[in-house]
Amino acid sequence: MKARAMVVTEPGRMQLEEFDVQAPPPGHLLVKTAVTSVCSTDIKVFKGKTPFGRYPLIMGHEIAGKVVDIGAGANDWPDIAPGERITVEPYIPCGRCTWSRSEHFYHQCPHGGIYGISRTCDEAPHLFGGYGEYFYVVPGTIVHKLGNRMPASAASLSSVVANGVRWVKTLGKITFGESVVISGPGSQGLSALASALESGAAPVIVLGLSRDTARLELAREFGAHHVIDVERRAAREAVAELLPHGADCVIETSGTPEGILAAVAMVRPAGRIVSIGLSGGVETPVRFDDLVWKSVTLITGLGQAGNVEDAMKLIDTGRYPFEKINNRVYELDELAAAIRDTEQRPEGFIKGAVIYDD
Ligand SMILES: [Zn+2]
Repeated sequence: MKARAMVVTEPGRMQLEEFDVQAPPPGHLLVKTAVTSVCSTDIKVFKGKTPFGRYPLIMGHEIAGKVVDIGAGANDWPDIAPGERITVEPYIPCGRCTWSRSEHFYHQCPHGGIYGISRTCDEAPHLFGGYGEYFYVVPGTIVHKLGNRMPASAASLSSVVANGVRWVKTLGKITFGESVVISGPGSQGLSALASALESGAAPVIVLGLSRDTARLELAREFGAHHVIDVERRAAREAVAELLPHGADCVIETSGTPEGILAAVAMVRPAGRIVSIGLSGGVETPVRFDDLVWKSVTLITGLGQAGNVEDAMKLIDTGRYPFEKINNRVYELDELAAAIRDTEQRPEGFIKGAVIYDD
């Protein structure tokens, strides 16, 4: 059997290649890819602008698929049977170092690698990324099973939804009745929104730009109490009208200097800012006095280690239509266009996904 996969041969170049699909080595799973969503990180990996990218590479780390075979003689997967639908966590903890044995920081493990980013395709069995018709799951990978009614498209977002869980629960420690402002209505912001609503936060206010109309509409459908287009209405004033003392917690996903400075202005005294957006190296001139005078707790961090199980529960409730986040569908050979759209965000674009034949 053969599988097509899109290979980034070197930064900036990709081509469709064919690989032999072999029986999985001991301890590995062979999975038929169902959906891989396109992450904005893929733009940077494709261009060679992350410290972790290694090549030649089959990218794609937001994956859902169906197990077709389990490596002979292995007992690493007592709960997994062929035919089962799964999603995998992108970070592969080695299982031995201190980081990899921590509950929430195994993404710091430098040994196991990351699917679709640092696991290259030059060594057999080659297929370690979501932009291939099949992929292999290596021993030590954290695998989650899909609920019966869970759309594969929603499950492919498990690590993204888990980021939302992390910003809200693990980092923000948001509880019932707290007011939350979410700056940026992309897949991260929408996932944080679902998580905040599920925690009983109220009101939850989502801020976006005019070109974010489709994202803001989906935020409304998720149940956001207020949605504000900050190009039509100044965010600080609009939020101050709703929350005269400021927000208990601001989740800043944009990473832009404007977003971060607005977060400092919008948080209440003794409130928290969870700032997780990456600017690509742009400096933000924050006056730390403003934080000190307000006794603000500033929290940062990367996603999702130890948060995917909660994310799967959240998706499985069916209360939030996560599958609608993937609102542009591509064939595998259209991946270049998918990445271009992710970067340029044409009208109505929320997020792209490669959807394979079932
Ligand atoms: Zn390790």
